[in-house]
Amino acid sequence: MANPIFANLPTTIFEEMSGLARELSAVNLGQGFPDDPGPDAIREKAADAVLNGYNQYPPMAGLPELRQAVAAHYARTQGVELDWASEVTVTSGATEALAAAFLALIEPGDEVVVFQPVYDSYLPMIRAAGGVPKLVSLQPPSWRFTREMLQAAFSERTRFVVLNNPMNPTGVVFPEGDLALLAEFCVAHDVIAICDEVWEQVVFEGACHRPLIGFPGMRERAVKIGSAGKMFGLTGWKVGFLAAAPALSRSLARAHQFLTFTTPPNLQAAVAWGLANSEAWFRDMPRDLARSRDRLSDGLRREGFAVLPAQGAYFLCVDLPGSGVAMGDREFCLQAVKQAGVATIPVSALYEDEPVTNIVRLCFAKRDATLDAGIEGLAKARALAVRRREPGSATA
Ligand code: PMP
Ligand code: GLN
Repeated sequence: MANPIFANLPTTIFEEMSGLARELSAVNLGQGFPDDPGPDAIREKAADAVLNGYNQYPPMAGLPELRQAVAAHYARTQGVELDWASEVTVTSGATEALAAAFLALIEPGDEVVVFQPVYDSYLPMIRAAGGVPKLVSLQPPSWRFTREMLQAAFSERTRFVVLNNPMNPTGVVFPEGDLALLAEFCVAHDVIAICDEVWEQVVFEGACHRPLIGFPGMRERAVKIGSAGKMFGLTGWKVGFLAAAPALSRSLARAHQFLTFTTPPNLQAAVAWGLANSEAWFRDMPRDLARSRDRLSDGLRREGFAVLPAQGAYFLCVDLPGSGVAMGDREFCLQAVKQAGVATIPVSALYEDEPVTNIVRLCFAKRDATLDAGIEGLAKARALAVRRREPGSATA
């Protein structure tokens, strides 16, 4: 016997595509992780903390030095003032922070508004907590929500909304007006917002990340989730943060204590140091990533792909019909990894119903050589797809 919420799920698309990339030695532009090994100084601090630091259970809510560093970082960079002792909890990645938020706060039958495309862990964990997801489908190329969409999704049973901003996989950084609209709905419906802001530091020129917790009426009704893995490009570290008003934080900590209880103390110590000493990293990292994004999008455009704008996170999306490819995204991605040696993510995998099937996500947090090999592989995949198109099938 197994719980059907989990037993009936496929392996997540990120693992499926990385598995194929490993098996076939393909270029991996699928799962979001950088080629770059991450800042040397922070990794040196972690190594030193393993050898010379404290390696036993740290406090359940996290090392005080890290909780203080998180509060100071958010005050400095986003104008969010947090009391580290009563409002910040350290988790084993944002994945655990999300699980803790869903399990701690949702009561069976509560409706939870969720935007599609949806990060893979949200729906299973909301359901495991007894929640009832209400899906709002965002559409390319803008991927924005409207008042009408929120009106249709929010009801008197709505207790939560989950917002991923900056948004994976779309690369959208929601503008102030959209966030103000969502905050208005949260206040009017007495709803708590679970804000997955793991990409908050990965925002490119022209865009500005605004935390939902900073909007009128949201300070007491938002749970802000961050991830050192994304801040420092150390995705395997799994050091996350939960920030929320004291009453919410108390509940969150109750769930966290039975999910993982704590997070490796040496990594926490290194992240605490990093948050206080990484002004140059936070300035340069987005600039370098924007350069990689441009290299990939320019190369793809030269090869005939239609590339959507990307304002944040490690990802850009291509539109298949606009690129002359009359094939579903999953079929294209499987063909690309198997026959052209490049792994990518079909965005339809991140929809539960009425999927958008014409968009493919690519990770650009890669060295130039990897990006160039990816462009070459994708050009080959496109040529194969265009050649295979049968007469009479849908045209581009
Ligand atoms: N939420 C989103 C939107 C993500 O993109 C990711 C990871 N890429 C996570 C959560 C999980 O973060 P972590 O690795 O810190 O668990
Ligand atoms: N967040 C990463 C991505 O979007 C994947 C993380 C995972 O594989 N769980 O690619």
